[in-house]
Amino acid sequence: MTHDRGVLISANWKMNENHYEAVKLVTELSALLRANPLPEARELSLHPSFTSLRTVQTLVETDRIPVALGAQNCHFEDAGAFTGEVSAAMLAKLGVTYVLCGHSERRAFAHENDEEIGKKIDAVLRNNMSPILCVGESAAARAAGDAEAVVSDQLAAVVTTKRHQSISRFVVAYEPIWAIGTGGTPTEEDAETMCAHIHLQLEGLAGAAAAAVRVQYGGSVNADNAAAFLAQPSIDGLLVGGASLDAARFMAIAHAGL
Ligand code: PEP
Repeated sequence: MTHDRGVLISANWKMNENHYEAVKLVTELSALLRANPLPEARELSLHPSFTSLRTVQTLVETDRIPVALGAQNCHFEDAGAFTGEVSAAMLAKLGVTYVLCGHSERRAFAHENDEEIGKKIDAVLRNNMSPILCVGESAAARAAGDAEAVVSDQLAAVVTTKRHQSISRFVVAYEPIWAIGTGGTPTEEDAETMCAHIHLQLEGLAGAAAAAVRVQYGGSVNADNAAAFLAQPSIDGLLVGGASLDAARFMAIAHAGL
């Protein structure tokens, strides 16, 4: 399957890998990538915790490792009295390209709502980075037949008129909540149906420029199922949690279907 938009495979390390462990993981990834390079149209992004970002940045730049730097979250203000927070402006200074916005874990335990997620996306765009907007339904919503409605509402709440001119810089990650970290996944056909729906809705909301938006699938991706998801025409990449913490497993995912 050729993907005109290119493919982005992102490693969400979550709250794992201190900066020593990050060096080991990135060094292993680097060796595997050098031995078996990826085609240009297949991009990787690494999303370490804040304490490992600077270390990973230095390693990636020094060794010219072909991966983009990503973050898992940011604050919506560029600076100020927000104890414990990290701004998008600070991330941009570190050479970050992609920032996860509205991951379901943050929507759940940090109570992030659509308004806050929208403000974070504005901060990411203002600082010339790309948001990876995470959307996805709960098990109950899927069982009730409401999955597409839930995802549509999440998109419509954030892809508002003032953000339409920046739409081509968005990435969307479709992550059904019930598939994250559980080992369970939708069938590739169901994931394709939802990702096709997301592409259509984005174009309906923001017009033709939305055709450039890459839509990732995320939720218990592993080396065995990655190729089937990537073979779907509307799935332009993967957001990988647990399986991205092992260099060989993540590299197998990165090369899936090639
Ligand atoms: C995630 O963290 O976004 C994720 C999809 O996790 P996992 O791959 O572990 O399900």
